[in-house]
Amino acid sequence: MAAPFFCPWCRHELSAQTDELVCGACHRRFPVEERLPDFSSRSHYWNQITEEQMEVILEIARLHGYRYAIEKIFTLLTDRSHAGYVLSESRADFRAILPITPESDVLDLGGGWGAVACTLAPGCRSVTTVDTNPYTLRFIQMRARQSGLDNVRPARIDPLDDARLPFPDGSFDVAIMNGVLEWVGEATEGVSPQEVQRRCLIEVRRVLKPGGALYVGIENRFAYGYFLGARDHSRLRYTSLMPRSLASLITRLRQGRPYRTYTYSYQGYKALLASAGFGSPELYLAIPSYRDPEYILPAEDDRAIAYFMRRRAAHIVDAMRRRTVQALFNRLPLSVSCRLVRQLFYSYLMVAEAPR
Ligand SMILES: [Zn+2]
Repeated sequence: MAAPFFCPWCRHELSAQTDELVCGACHRRFPVEERLPDFSSRSHYWNQITEEQMEVILEIARLHGYRYAIEKIFTLLTDRSHAGYVLSESRADFRAILPITPESDVLDLGGGWGAVACTLAPGCRSVTTVDTNPYTLRFIQMRARQSGLDNVRPARIDPLDDARLPFPDGSFDVAIMNGVLEWVGEATEGVSPQEVQRRCLIEVRRVLKPGGALYVGIENRFAYGYFLGARDHSRLRYTSLMPRSLASLITRLRQGRPYRTYTYSYQGYKALLASAGFGSPELYLAIPSYRDPEYILPAEDDRAIAYFMRRRAAHIVDAMRRRTVQALFNRLPLSVSCRLVRQLFYSYLMVAEAPR
């Protein structure tokens, strides 16, 4: 069984009453409605669709199944391409680089629509999936039940910028942060986003067992696409490339808010994880992206990178891009071209070990 829930405020045991969990030390009460515990202390709603639309999706999922609700209704409200984002098992393909066994207890941070949790569940002992959105957590609950999975446990928490996880120390073998870390600095003001991210990682480290694995999937701050004008998390161009203070000045002028969605360079991620007490991470390049990786390359393996890039270059349709990649690998020493690929790659997967 997964570790019990603990009080997120004082980390004391909770006792189960009818419809709530009660802390024996600070006497805080946490409601449990239809088996969904709620540890949130402030409301925070993030999703592709509105709360009213979410109610409709849930009702249809209840009546006709979660898959039907997504394929027939959700796609009408958003975009056809979003169905794959919600349903596809390939969204959890990064499991290939994680030490997950049938005895593993997994923590999925920012569980979204449950694509990762419900894909990992058959291969491990338990998946605890936490998020701030009560509707998608309900959806995950229903999805797990309809898929015959009895080891998926959703819980509602506060946003991770003030990470207080409702678990005792050393509860999990693996923690997953897929497309999450870049957002955690957003809600808190007065503390630098980097410091907020560091505190969040320290809290995640606390709930990992000694030697447990943290997985992070995230963009590269200096991805080549950003130099070509791709939009950053701020929804503006070039902000990730700028010094943070300049990016903040731009977002304040254009959007009336500071720049807080920090991403980092290859070395920057290593430094951030080290500052939160994790061991040196194994880094991988995810192609086309960490959200749905088709290929995963070990980032330090020059032979693998060279083989892949040469092979792929031959199939690039755009002549200009093809010649650029070919020149990179034909004119420069291999170690230089591979370093360039590493430093400029779109997104990274990282696996870091909690101290033993
Ligand atoms: Zn308490």
